[in-house]
Amino acid sequence: MTKETYSFQAEVGKILDIVAHSLYSQKEVFLRELISNASDACDKLRYHSLTEPELLSGNGDFAITLAVDPKAKTLTISDNGIGMSKDDMIDALGTIAKSGTQAFMDGLKDAQSDGEDAKLALIGQFGVGFYSSFMIADKVEVVSRKAGDTDAWRWTSNGQGAFDIESATREERGTDVIVHVKKDAKEFLEVLRIENVVKTYSDHIAQPVILKASKDSEEDKTLNSASALWTREKKDITADQYNEFYHHVGMAFDEPWLTLHNKVEGAISYTNLLFVPSSRPFDLFHPERKGSLKLYVNRVFITDDCEALIPGYMRFLKGVVDSEDIDLNVSREMLQHNPAVAKIRKALMKRVLNELKKKAEKAPEEYATFWETFGMVLKEGIHEDIENRDRLMELVRFKSSSVEGWTSLKDYVSRMKASQDAIYYISGADAEAAARSPQLEGFRAKGIEVLFMTDPVDEFWMPAVGMYDEKQFKSATRGDVDLSKIDGDSDDKDGDDKDKAKEDMPAGMDALTAAFKIALGDKVKDVRTSSRLTDSPVCLVAEEGDMDMHLERLLKQHQQIDQGSPRVLEVNPKHLLIMNLAGVAEKQKGKDALLDDAAFLLLDQALIIEGEPVLDPQAFIRRMTEVMQKSMPT
Ligand code: ADP
Ligand code: MG
Repeated sequence: MTKETYSFQAEVGKILDIVAHSLYSQKEVFLRELISNASDACDKLRYHSLTEPELLSGNGDFAITLAVDPKAKTLTISDNGIGMSKDDMIDALGTIAKSGTQAFMDGLKDAQSDGEDAKLALIGQFGVGFYSSFMIADKVEVVSRKAGDTDAWRWTSNGQGAFDIESATREERGTDVIVHVKKDAKEFLEVLRIENVVKTYSDHIAQPVILKASKDSEEDKTLNSASALWTREKKDITADQYNEFYHHVGMAFDEPWLTLHNKVEGAISYTNLLFVPSSRPFDLFHPERKGSLKLYVNRVFITDDCEALIPGYMRFLKGVVDSEDIDLNVSREMLQHNPAVAKIRKALMKRVLNELKKKAEKAPEEYATFWETFGMVLKEGIHEDIENRDRLMELVRFKSSSVEGWTSLKDYVSRMKASQDAIYYISGADAEAAARSPQLEGFRAKGIEVLFMTDPVDEFWMPAVGMYDEKQFKSATRGDVDLSKIDGDSDDKDGDDKDKAKEDMPAGMDALTAAFKIALGDKVKDVRTSSRLTDSPVCLVAEEGDMDMHLERLLKQHQQIDQGSPRVLEVNPKHLLIMNLAGVAEKQKGKDALLDDAAFLLLDQALIIEGEPVLDPQAFIRRMTEVMQKSMPT
């Protein structure tokens, strides 16, 4: 039979034109596309053979082979899948009517206004199916024999407007795509390059991808794992296989802390095989970090950088999500707004949070290790993900002034004192630093628990959330904490001990605070007596409406603010030193050098315990020396 020549459909012409004129760096995606087509062809035949087993003619071992002919400068991708008849070829390789490439054309319309780069990005990221072979080929031949047919056909084109079809021979069913590699794409005739591309993009193609030996001395080599692990039944997968896959997909070396493998069928069908690592990756807080969650569409790798698939606060997750309900040819930008992706994300979030909840309830110790590893990341979600906020609030854990290990908010609330109406917290660089805070003394004395907020992110979600279980979060280091209203462990019987506190106030206390205020001037916002302290003479607190001191410190460290607002100096009226000073103030009735020095020395003490520099090191040392000298026996 003679050769027949056909014109490409106009749209195909356009695609080929873009492909041919693109100098895109990601040309290797052509191989992903051709292997994916070969794999599809095998899947199709497998499916048809369910009802027509004779189509297999005894050979049900599907395989994809790659063969390089360095002399002819060809790379041939062969499969023993369903094959194509003459009409199939004209239809499938001459038009884009049926193929997902239509979506590419739609995307192209959008990209038109964005210029050449956007178009190229579209091809690079998603390929344009079969036609992407023309990125690296000056001629492509397709020889195919359809399963069940005896005749074979050859399709040939140089990608310029037209293709030829003629009769051919092929021993068995299947397809060979013979790519005549262009001069500037010789790399795709190199075994190592091919191997690398297959590993990167097609590792989980279910059929083996075999590289044919090019010399007699060599052996054929299977390049991929040849099984999409996540598509197998859970019961057929061993723990070792899961771990191995986790290492591969997550580039990790630890064991997964949690493995979630689910097949979901419904309005949107997808499979997820997700892992929560057991150790923290070094780059968890690098802004440029890419996620380790790979998105597949029907076992074809799409991207490992799909922000829309998983929120930032779940960036510790690794693994694979595979769905057939996402358009393969959708661009990465469009993926961000893809409704299918959004639905999958929502469902994934729910599942992961549920699993975490289960762990937290059933295996609190295991959950604690997770929390120590990723808690500070999960907390970001409270701030960001309003929809899941309540779930997240059940999952957060804190160290506290009253219990060993970690506590939940629910447990904290269950331990609250009868008349306590707020959840008290204190911020610090870590639990130890927080525990040392003098502001906790009064809380400790009354047995009132204080949560330790030790992650910078705490300063953001807490103001946003404000309360839990209708109880307000209140900083132990901010003004207006009135512990006298709360019946503590120590002085239960006293009823309203506010009046009692008044009575107990040593004489001269008002004179002392007034004298301190005058001495310190604008170095402090105010000087007050404290109900927070038992052992320490003084502490600093922030005025009620002001920024938390810890947050202020953080912002200063990151040069977000240069100057904090002045604090309130609280003095402990039960402390002997303060009582003695009050006595002095009472007698002196006004300004006194001793009171001045005491005011500054005490303020510096309070700063030191906060981990902050003293006001003026030289003045501090001078005063300190003087006081010591005075106390020396003469
Ligand atoms: P898509 O794979 O999205 O359908 P492609 O451009 O990659 O788009 O392929 C177009 C069509 O060509 C396929 O749908 C299929 O019908 C046919 N085809 C391509 N490669 C093969 C092959 N190896 N075996 C059988 N059919 C193929
Ligand atoms: Mg394809």
